[in-house]
Amino acid sequence: MPMAVDVDPLLHDPLTGLPNRRLLEDRIEIAAAQAQRLERPIAVLRLDLDRFKPVNDVRGPRVGDEILRRIARRLASSILEGDTVARTGGDEFTVLLPDVRHEEDAAKVAESLRRAVAAPVFVEGEREPVRLTATLGVAIFPADGHDAESLLRNAENALHRAKALGGDSYQLCTPEMNRRAAERLKLEEDLRAALAREEIHVRYQPIYRLKDGSLSGFEALARWTRSGGREVPAEVFVSLAEEARLILPIGRFVLLAACREAARWKGRGAGPTVAVNLSAWQLREPRIADEVARVLDETRLAPSRLMLEITERVAVQDAELTARVLAQLRGMGVYIALDDFGIGYSSLAYLHRFPVDALKIDRTFVQELRPGSRGGSIVAAIIALGHALQLKIIAEGVETDEQAAFLRAHGCDEAQGYRWSGPLATPDVNALVEEATV
Ligand code: C2E
Ligand code: CA
Ligand code: CA
Repeated sequence: MPMAVDVDPLLHDPLTGLPNRRLLEDRIEIAAAQAQRLERPIAVLRLDLDRFKPVNDVRGPRVGDEILRRIARRLASSILEGDTVARTGGDEFTVLLPDVRHEEDAAKVAESLRRAVAAPVFVEGEREPVRLTATLGVAIFPADGHDAESLLRNAENALHRAKALGGDSYQLCTPEMNRRAAERLKLEEDLRAALAREEIHVRYQPIYRLKDGSLSGFEALARWTRSGGREVPAEVFVSLAEEARLILPIGRFVLLAACREAARWKGRGAGPTVAVNLSAWQLREPRIADEVARVLDETRLAPSRLMLEITERVAVQDAELTARVLAQLRGMGVYIALDDFGIGYSSLAYLHRFPVDALKIDRTFVQELRPGSRGGSIVAAIIALGHALQLKIIAEGVETDEQAAFLRAHGCDEAQGYRWSGPLATPDVNALVEEATV
């Protein structure tokens, strides 16, 4: 039975109802033009069923046709809206992904299509299910071609290479791309297992009050040490975790670990605060406020000892939602800081709109701090603006005495950076907290 779509016989394959080669080529041209404008890659994947001909010969054309229809349906449901799967030959399909971020994303889709084909096909009247495999070749615009013809041809070349290597797999066009995609997918797979393997841990960077040099608190920073002791930079794995949505479990882990740790610090008065970074995904969790409340309850940490940092980039993505969630968190007594302030969309309208308590001046400005420099004027302006709005100002990435002196002279409230200390492990944190208490 053909699929229930608007089937134009000139543009669709009558057996499966999928777009045919002609419609596909049109769509590739449109996607390529759009990608050129938006400077975003697109991917063309050619998929060939391995050893379909003998199956067709042995089981007969009725079963063969039914298998093709089933496979077509599986492929169509493995892709996203906006993607195209076309039937471009007897047992050959071609997929267009008009919006990919990296070649690894195309590699991931190739792998999921390969798996979709590999599941056994049960055909009515047949005693044994049919088991097929598929081989794919992937071409990326603009690296592997600028038009439908060259992209299709290069994807086909990659497909032939994958077949020559034994089939039931995929290949990208160049060895370099294959290497990069494999490396990144491996990293993602390892990151997926990292929490369970206890390879993720938390370090704490001290934050000091500039007026008297006293300890104010710590920022919790996630660390990933892979087996063998190699550290993956936070910048690398945090963005990978965000793309793979692994930042939710990791963020949850960091929040719990940091609150547990902070609950044990006894300082003067209430004790040092702990700042935890929140990612965009966490902010969009429907029950993030409940989760924070639960963690505070479980660790018995006073809400006023916790500061949540969100970057302005994250905050402005869905300003309305952000404002609502921040108000909820603040209502519980938790402090909110706008992180990396100055490099993103620091518009006054947002500052006015988001209920925040502190601004963290991005380290790129701090690094440029010299009296009379542009960076100096910007930092001085941020401090004045923040204070006018009754916000606490925290400078990050302070590395020199000169930078610290500038900040102090301009009334910046607090600072962190290698000038004092990098992120520390628990024993060093404890020593600092004890020292601060006596
Ligand atoms: P961030 O929130 O801006 O964190 C400050 C970064 O500056 C940290 O890098 C810290 O090690 C580094 N740093 C501290 N002092 C200095 C200094 O004096 N000079 C310079 N050049 N750098 C300094 P790190 O730990 O590599 O983290 C990078 C980013 O990864 C963080 O930037 C944050 O956006 C993200 N991140 C780290 N941990 C977490 C986490 O648990 N959750 C989330 N969502 N993001 C995290
Ligand atoms: Ca931060
Ligand atoms: Ca920051």
